[in-house]
Amino acid sequence: MALRPETSSELLIDGKLVPGSRGTFDVVNPATEEVIGQAADAGADDLDAAIGAARRAFDETDWSRDHAFRAKCLRQLRDALLGHAEEFRALTTEEVGAPAFLTSGPQFEGPVKDLGYFADLAENYEWTRDLGKAEPMGLPNVREVRFEGAGVVGAITPWNFPHQINFAKIGPALAAGCTVVLKPAPDTPWAAALVGKVIAEETDFPAGVVNVITSSDHEIGAKMVTDPRVDIVSFTGSTATGKKVMESAAGTLTKVFLELGGKSAFIVLDDADLAGACSMAAFNVVTHAGQGCAITTRLLVPREKYDEAITATRDAMAGLKADDPSKPGTICGPLISAVQRDRVEGYIKLAREEGGKVEIGGGRPEGKDKGFFVEPTLISGLDNSARVAQEEIFGPVLVIIPHDGDEDAIRIANDSPYGLSGMVYGTDEERINKVVNGVRTGTMGVNGGIWYAADVPFGGYKQSGIGREMGVAGFEEYLESKAVARPA
Ligand code: NAD
Repeated sequence: MALRPETSSELLIDGKLVPGSRGTFDVVNPATEEVIGQAADAGADDLDAAIGAARRAFDETDWSRDHAFRAKCLRQLRDALLGHAEEFRALTTEEVGAPAFLTSGPQFEGPVKDLGYFADLAENYEWTRDLGKAEPMGLPNVREVRFEGAGVVGAITPWNFPHQINFAKIGPALAAGCTVVLKPAPDTPWAAALVGKVIAEETDFPAGVVNVITSSDHEIGAKMVTDPRVDIVSFTGSTATGKKVMESAAGTLTKVFLELGGKSAFIVLDDADLAGACSMAAFNVVTHAGQGCAITTRLLVPREKYDEAITATRDAMAGLKADDPSKPGTICGPLISAVQRDRVEGYIKLAREEGGKVEIGGGRPEGKDKGFFVEPTLISGLDNSARVAQEEIFGPVLVIIPHDGDEDAIRIANDSPYGLSGMVYGTDEERINKVVNGVRTGTMGVNGGIWYAADVPFGGYKQSGIGREMGVAGFEEYLESKAVARPA
């Protein structure tokens, strides 16, 4: 089966691949600005049908109780997708602008393989926990707590790592026994729609268990949040939209799970290998053109080594040019759209207005008159109160800030509305641990350590979100517990 649609990709509703009621919308390659195809444009009626199907599949079938069958379907999906890996990888580079090397990791193969981890959880989780005997009000009782899928999940996702984020939601939700309506971002509809096609044509998932709704209209996401048939809204996106989601969900007291923005700090201590740390910081921020919520975008270096650190980071960035993402060596591809490129360029302009110095980059790469590229950019001369140090830019832009020792570095790292991730470089274990403990974030790397894996809970403190994705904690987000007691 060829994945690439001849005309338009379709929606998956109640087990069937169907067109969108509002026709189609264009899918654009951000590296060339060419229209590469169309996606089905769902309207409110399609959303209504998808939620209805998910509700019926949850309420009227055995899906939520048959743990072994769910594990089988998830493994089947993983294997079917891996059978199409080459085509998916090429399409991900075309649609998302993802550098090719990332598609064998978090931009496709990694999260697909992670479905196996969630299948194992469906099979092996302790679904009933014996709490033993107790005597409430003097009466002997035996008690247990049962865990069950929480119901219909409305999954709303962004464009930057579409496969990773889609599977980090549908994997644990389905393993837990929920049914799902997945609504991807309008910029990357195929990543979700073509998974829907594989589900419909190559797996035994019952009708309605997974529904995929692509739409050019953000309102479809907003409508999903207020629909009383949805039990959990699992949202990844910007903090601004996350706040709207939480506000709208209050009307029905729907549980919200939020993975939002970040402005993570890369802390270099004075006993660290400065050049090694600075080149890692440069590599991090240009990867996928900085379009990662957990990317470290503030580089905090000892004040006495500020100039040396600027030189080392600038030199490292000079070797990391923005380029065609399908070329094997490319680390920094394009931004997803003209809107995002304009936004990033607006922040670089703002940095100059705030008194910052652009050490390298700051514009569009030479010779690239097509594609939404921005050069890897280093900004110096600002402190942490600058807007470019406080706000999420979501581009290949690094702000380098001096610190006056370990405590000051922790203070600066925490002086942010966000708390998603971070990195510390140093040699003294005690000092490193103090920093790890002091920074209020959901994940921390040490000396280049990579925490990303299926069994690692990921999520944010403060305005970076509520809840954890991946790992057992991510799976448990999709469960309800029911305590049961009977006289002993
Ligand atoms: P966005 O908030 O604009 O959109 C995300 C999704 O929400 C899209 O599917 C969109 O259609 C939908 N949406 C828009 N308005 C809505 C509304 N009112 N109600 C419900 N849904 C609505 O984000 P984006 O620009 O697509 O993605 C970039 C942002 O995502 C960045 O801020 C980034 O940090 C964040 N992000 C966070 C994580 C994380 O795990 N913490 C991961 C990736 C991206």
